[in-house]
Amino acid sequence: MNKVIIPRSIGILYSLGNHLTNKHDGKGSSEFDFSHWGGHRYFPISQFYKQRFGEKVYKVSVSIAETCPNRQPNTRMPLCIFCDEWGSAAYHLERDKPLQEQIIINREKIAKRYRAKKFLVYFQSYTNTFDRVSELEQRFEVALSEENIAGIVLGTRPDCLPARILPLLQKTHESHYVMVELGLQSFFDHHLTFLQRGHYVQRGYDAIAKLHEHTGVDIGIHLIFGLPDETDEEIIQTAQILNNLPISNVKLHNLHVLSKTPLAEQYERGEFQPIELDEYINKVTLFLQHLSPDIAVQRLAAVASRWDELIAPQWTKEKMRPTQAIEDQLKSQSIYQGKLS
Ligand code: SF4
Repeated sequence: MNKVIIPRSIGILYSLGNHLTNKHDGKGSSEFDFSHWGGHRYFPISQFYKQRFGEKVYKVSVSIAETCPNRQPNTRMPLCIFCDEWGSAAYHLERDKPLQEQIIINREKIAKRYRAKKFLVYFQSYTNTFDRVSELEQRFEVALSEENIAGIVLGTRPDCLPARILPLLQKTHESHYVMVELGLQSFFDHHLTFLQRGHYVQRGYDAIAKLHEHTGVDIGIHLIFGLPDETDEEIIQTAQILNNLPISNVKLHNLHVLSKTPLAEQYERGEFQPIELDEYINKVTLFLQHLSPDIAVQRLAAVASRWDELIAPQWTKEKMRPTQAIEDQLKSQSIYQGKLS
């Protein structure tokens, strides 16, 4: 087991449980009120946004960042084994368009599909703090001056938060909603090594401490389950670690194989096999039981948006089936988020 050091200030603050909004009393599920969660047995991010903004809010993804530390020219860093050439961009075909145009196009699509009225601009692709501060500031201004934009969400790596960026995040957070999503992926160094992330767990703790103490922004954590030799004990410990950090939400992904990635090469050599849906469901339901009911869940499983790139498992193509299966298992086993936390 890796020894990890949670910054003391974080540990103390969150052992006081000062971010709790949906306290549970440890009694049976029949006494637990799921209406806070829109009837779900976990705290979905949609309810978190409703509580925060008083109405439904939807993310508008944009692809503006063009690279990351692992992809910059002349780096010796290997690629993260799961990352495709688009760096997790949802709308990679629009990435050559200016930011304002991407916001307008994608906001329109979401507004039509969900009758949405309020939005967060989600800087999703690659590493969105890996640029000059002046450039980031300009992007934030463009995003926040657009109609019906309630705030911004930045996707980044834990080792890409230099001190010079923190005042900008803090200043922006004073006037608008800001969330930083950190791609931690795992709280275990041996899994980060397998994933070729190029950073260790301690970087994650340091990033969370910096964001919390110097900016006050909301913090989301990305995690990957389905790693080789992952144990139930690790899944439980992951939830317990999160419960003691000043974060507001978590996003779960199952490790899946996309073409033209280092993982695809391992898969083709027979060195990696993704887990089946049943096993993934067990991991997520175990995790949720131990996760504080106050941490919102952005997503229960990965969805491959570019089907032609997906090699395995095929269930990652389906948006609803894994989520529904997890919800079904929570119900059939009378369990819910935080039941054992
Ligand atoms: S996952 Fe992020 S940090 Fe890793 S190679 Fe892809 S874009 Fe870069």
